[in-house]
Amino acid sequence: MNNIAKIAVIGAGPAGMMAAGRLAAAGFSVSLFEKNDLLGKKLGITGKGRCNLTNDCTPETFMKNITTNGKFLFSAVNRFSPRDTMAFFEGLGVALKVERGNRVFPVSDRATDIVLAMKKYVITSGAKIINERVTALRADDDGISEVITEKRKYESFDEIVLCTGGLSYPLTGSTGDGFEFARALGHTVTPPVPSLVGLESEDKLCRDTQGLSLKNVAISVLDTAMSKVIFDDFGEMLFTHFGMSGPLILSASAHLRPMDRDRYVVYIDLKPALDAEQLDARVLSDFEKYKNKNLDNALGDLLPQKLIHPFIKACGLEYGEKVNSVTRAERAKIVGTLKRLPVSVRGFRPIDEAIVTSGGVKTSEIDPKTMRSKKVKNLYFAGEVIDVDAYTGGFNIQIALSTGVCCADGIIEKYTVV
Ligand SMILES: Cc1cc2nc3c(=O)[nH]c(=O)nc-3n(C[C@H](O)[C@H](O)[C@H](O)COP(=O)(O)OP(=O)(O)OC[C@H]3O[C@@H](n4cnc5c(N)ncnc54)[C@H](O)[C@@H]3O)c2cc1C
Repeated sequence: MNNIAKIAVIGAGPAGMMAAGRLAAAGFSVSLFEKNDLLGKKLGITGKGRCNLTNDCTPETFMKNITTNGKFLFSAVNRFSPRDTMAFFEGLGVALKVERGNRVFPVSDRATDIVLAMKKYVITSGAKIINERVTALRADDDGISEVITEKRKYESFDEIVLCTGGLSYPLTGSTGDGFEFARALGHTVTPPVPSLVGLESEDKLCRDTQGLSLKNVAISVLDTAMSKVIFDDFGEMLFTHFGMSGPLILSASAHLRPMDRDRYVVYIDLKPALDAEQLDARVLSDFEKYKNKNLDNALGDLLPQKLIHPFIKACGLEYGEKVNSVTRAERAKIVGTLKRLPVSVRGFRPIDEAIVTSGGVKTSEIDPKTMRSKKVKNLYFAGEVIDVDAYTGGFNIQIALSTGVCCADGIIEKYTVV
């Protein structure tokens, strides 16, 4: 192997650290540029500080959890699979455990253990860390050879790997610089939008119920412009001061494209285990039990306390109404609303608050096997800078690691003399 090639890896998130470590371990001269003093700052806050580093599922299940450009990732995820990730970290001395939904965490429940393991991998492999912000990449006909940082110019690179992440949680360093570099080098960048993010609503119901978490509910999201249900699932959600959040809502947010104000309505099925007929019988029995009480008392067995008044308002009824005066039509309205409580969506929370950025360097301009640019011959991409994203569950970090491995292996293969 001609392994004296000089490689610049830009961005030390999971994608960049994986690419830099693997290339340095193969004998390349690697400079890893990171604008923060710390490596993997975002990685250190993932999984609520526990780091859900991958999902112990088959590649087929993995593909189903990718919300944007899954096909593009097929080769990368097969080259470096969730099982490879687990073996990699266990090989670095991090004991892992698998939790609900095949989510993989360190046994210690500390994301910093994952960051430290990756940092150790980078350093022991022999990569040089340069804690400087890259401000530009200079290209000529032979590709990019100069990396300009805020402090100086670095020359004579043979290959460049761009792993600067997306635009979410900018305090971690992901401020979208890579999108600018890619654009300046002739790449198309699909406009970044938030994904896995809370949804804002002006619905009074959200304000009146803020802080309330609903477990075992189902939601369906209607795209009113297309008159089509674009997402439905079962699980947990939360009302907040801005609208709605929680796992179900974050997953739904990945499907709200384009985001136009008031275009989508979330319908909450508060009793998914019962069909309308069963629910009507249940309501009738509660009404019989509480026939001399007010309507709000009669719904106490079916709904959490905080939801009762907002729910009755959503039905267009009065909570002071006596149960024995509720008409058949009003009861039908109650049952209908229990199965389909509507909450309109004004828009996304800002991208700063999103778990991931959807959008990024267009996948059709990148070779899916090597992550090599089809526009600039010595440029590679890995991680969230690419227009790929997935649900929560460890899939996004796995994408960063798999694409990081692909870049590294693409470069290693290029310099392997057969
Ligand atoms: C709160 C939160 C929780 C999450 N939890 C999970 C989870 O549990 N599981 C999961 O799979 N995913 C999770 N994610 C998503 C996951 O963290 C990202 O998808 C992943 O970190 C992307 O990796 P990356 O290497 O592509 O980019 P990043 O991790 O964003 O790293 C990019 C790096 O590039 C550096 N950089 C940027 N510009 C420059 C520049 N100009 N010069 C030098 N350096 C630069 C940045 O400082 C940063 O360190 C979470 C995200 C957030 C925000």
